[in-house]
Amino acid sequence: MSARQIAKIIAATAVTEGAGVTVHRTIGTPALRNLDPFLMLDHFSSDDPDDYIAGFPDHPHRGFITLTYMLDGHMLHRDSMGNHGDLKAGGAQWMKAASGVIHSEMPQQTAGLMRGFQLWINLPGKEKMSEPAYQEFSATAIPEYNNSGIRVRVLCGEYQGVRGPIEDPFTQVQYFDVRLEATAQFRHALPADLQAFVYVFEGDARLADSPLPQHSFAVLSGGDAIEAVAGGKGARFILVAGRPLKEPIAQYGPFVMNTTDEIHQAMADYRDGRLVQKKAAFITA
Ligand code: MN
Repeated sequence: MSARQIAKIIAATAVTEGAGVTVHRTIGTPALRNLDPFLMLDHFSSDDPDDYIAGFPDHPHRGFITLTYMLDGHMLHRDSMGNHGDLKAGGAQWMKAASGVIHSEMPQQTAGLMRGFQLWINLPGKEKMSEPAYQEFSATAIPEYNNSGIRVRVLCGEYQGVRGPIEDPFTQVQYFDVRLEATAQFRHALPADLQAFVYVFEGDARLADSPLPQHSFAVLSGGDAIEAVAGGKGARFILVAGRPLKEPIAQYGPFVMNTTDEIHQAMADYRDGRLVQKKAAFITA
């Protein structure tokens, strides 16, 4: 087995999203437009309500999947499929926007820490106009491996026989929240054709002998395993991998299609109230 190296470290860019929420973006910035099959990664982490209280009122998506992992805090989701979900600490939400969803994501707290990640996963062209779908997983629905200073919460994929509840049949996404005690060693076989990245959000680690300081986002090189060692204060990171779709990407904000014509269609559909094709009771936030 050959261990993956760090191919590139990306510095997060602070971006204002929604009605005025500060997020730290890595995938989806000029430094890293996308990381096929991933289109965007936002990390939100603040105990200042001014950074998050405005939330994300009604907005559209078409052509991809959003996967939100909540570490701390409480958000309420409502969408045009008629879903209404509470996203709480340790839980995750998987939304296949596909042909079109309008939704809101609003904080349900006026103080305290709000922390988590939102990842956009691309859909293959043949799935972009399929029916939207939504699934929510409470903290207890996400299993955890816990042994010898290594704790791994498995959202997608499998680690040491622990299988996550979220399946992505198009890109075989693996998504782990890895928590290591000081100097603990983490190892995971990862098929060589999967694109992979890590984001260290607590402590620090070394990956194949290169330093990964706190808040670093690293794209991993080819290889069929990942090996990481926590620093003296331990480390916590997400490890995400997925099979590239190798299709053209045309993106305009919340619409991600294969061609510019399809983007123009999405904009026209949104303008004319035709974005949501699968009509469910539309709930305003
Ligand atoms: Mn959204």
